[in-house]
Amino acid sequence: MHCPFCNALDTKVIDSRLVSEGNQVRRRRECITCAERFTTFESAELVMPRIVKSNGNREPFDESKLHSGLLKALEKRPVSIEKVDEAINRIKNYLRATGEREVPSRMVGERVMQELRQLDEVAFVRFASVYRSFKDLNEFRAEIDRLANDN
Ligand SMILES: [Zn+2]
Repeated sequence: MHCPFCNALDTKVIDSRLVSEGNQVRRRRECITCAERFTTFESAELVMPRIVKSNGNREPFDESKLHSGLLKALEKRPVSIEKVDEAINRIKNYLRATGEREVPSRMVGERVMQELRQLDEVAFVRFASVYRSFKDLNEFRAEIDRLANDN
């Protein structure tokens, strides 16, 4: 790790702590040459799998799309932005944890539905009805029952 001040290569770590729920390490470093101090953040590089759409097209995972989808479902609902961010992080962690390089978009949709079901029933129903485009109410009910039994 080069010193950002003098570009010397030798720096020592003077403090190290876990941040952002243990996903990152924050290190205070001191340059041995010029004695300047600086901070680095390290996190494991975990790559998001690519998304395979139902028509077979591949696209990169798009967090902003996920975010706006959730916010749309949660419009005017009493759910804090922190809760939404937590849900997004759980979805991302889940997708990474599959260890797959590609996952079907259906898997993302199912995960979003599970998260919404925990966050807000109304948002869940909104999202599910659009996502699934149910032919009739019975089909929709059956789906909700299936999800409810999943846990
Ligand atoms: Zn230096």
